[in-house]
Amino acid sequence: MNNDEIEQVCTNTSRECFRYCPLCGAETLYPNTHKTFKCGGCGFEFFLNTAAAVGALITDSEGRLLITVRKAEPAKGTWDLPGGFVDVSESAEQALRREVKEELGLDILSADYLYSVPNTYEYGRVTYQTVDLVYRCEAADASKAQACDDVAAVLFKRREDINPERFGLASVRKIIRRFLHEDG
Ligand SMILES: [Zn+2]
Repeated sequence: MNNDEIEQVCTNTSRECFRYCPLCGAETLYPNTHKTFKCGGCGFEFFLNTAAAVGALITDSEGRLLITVRKAEPAKGTWDLPGGFVDVSESAEQALRREVKEELGLDILSADYLYSVPNTYEYGRVTYQTVDLVYRCEAADASKAQACDDVAAVLFKRREDINPERFGLASVRKIIRRFLHEDG
């Protein structure tokens, strides 16, 4: 995403959603920079901080990738990777273990950080700026994964059967394309 696009997100978000100052409550909030709003009344600055999220690449004993089907919007019904947002006061590794346990009932044995992908996430009427941290994980027994929480179904797919376009979120499509171009 370039600066013009970020500016656009900020402007759209401010026009539709953020009009009132969260500190003094006056309708005097305006876009100030590409990532901040400012209150014309009390001077409070509101930052559009990037929210951290984690994504897990888990394969079974046959090397097939564990794919989840999204149960809820955004992108309901599309393919996804296990994972989710990092909670307040939580490490990325804790978030990874928690999300994989919540969504699949699996325990993570090891997790190796690979890379990160910036993204946006539409929720309600707000566009959030996020960064997805990708981990290659080993699970105790991946084949025992069950669809729980916000997961509608669990699939195991060989590389040749994975179409990145089935994944509804742009950042996950990028992660999948990268996964498919890796060796092994
Ligand atoms: Zn104010």
